[in-house]
Amino acid sequence: MTSGFPPPAHGTAAAAGTGTDLAGRTALVTGAGSGIGRACAVALAAAGAHVHAVDVDGAAVRSVAEAIGGRAHVVDLAQAEPIGELPTAVDILVNNAGLQHVAPLAEFPPERFELLQRVMVHAPFLLLRQTLPYMCAQGWGRIVNISSVHGRRASAFKAGYVTAKHALEGLSKVAAIEGAPHGVTSNCVNPGYVRTPLVERQISAQAAAHGIAADQVVADVLLTRSAVKRLIEPQEVAAAVLWLCGPHTGYVTGASIPLDGGWSAT
Ligand code: NAD
Repeated sequence: MTSGFPPPAHGTAAAAGTGTDLAGRTALVTGAGSGIGRACAVALAAAGAHVHAVDVDGAAVRSVAEAIGGRAHVVDLAQAEPIGELPTAVDILVNNAGLQHVAPLAEFPPERFELLQRVMVHAPFLLLRQTLPYMCAQGWGRIVNISSVHGRRASAFKAGYVTAKHALEGLSKVAAIEGAPHGVTSNCVNPGYVRTPLVERQISAQAAAHGIAADQVVADVLLTRSAVKRLIEPQEVAAAVLWLCGPHTGYVTGASIPLDGGWSAT
């Protein structure tokens, strides 16, 4: 008796047990120089994809591209013009680049608020605008937007970030609806706190601000709302991204997948 699913592919990742063979596919990953973006670039390349790694940090993105046999693009995603020069014939787009700024709303610097929207909303919009036509024309595409638990929940002092991630959720759903007739899916993944430089910086800042140890910040500040009392690793986020690019997820679209240790279940 057969499972009813397509037979497993035979690429590297299939051999590793993920069932996802991306040989012949091209992916573009933003913020690929660090953290979650780097883990996604590594996972997609290991599954056989040719990866365009995009980041403002030239040294970091070149080193990732070299390690995975991909191509590095040093681009500041806060600027529209260089985005227009990135490849448009991609099968998989991972909108990941992001940054944080923590301040009370009344003191939030307007230029920082605008920067967060440019990098985390406007750049994904421009990239979708220029890659969706190719995906639709070929009848297959996968868009994965790295949102956050803060795309579904708010926290104090994160006006720029929470606003940007909620906007990204809406953008992802529009792409899902427009892409659906053409075999293109668009989804968000919504991690809680991931062990990356972005969070390490928040931990040391909070430790200094409160005069407490770093592990106490993790336990008493970051993980208070998470039922699973640990940070999630970037590779665990990348595994969800890879699954969304795999053979069994054509019906998963317009979704937001919580990877938040139960935070949003409370
Ligand atoms: P990170 O700081 O490790 O990596 C972010 C990358 O984005 C860096 O390489 C940085 O150079 C790049 N980047 C920032 N601004 C850029 C710009 N203007 N142009 C091009 N590249 C730029 O952070 P991370 O934790 O890996 O975060 C990646 C994504 O995951 C972000 O969108 C973040 O909001 C999201 N996220 C992170 C967490 C977490 O806890 N770390 C949780 C949920 C969601």
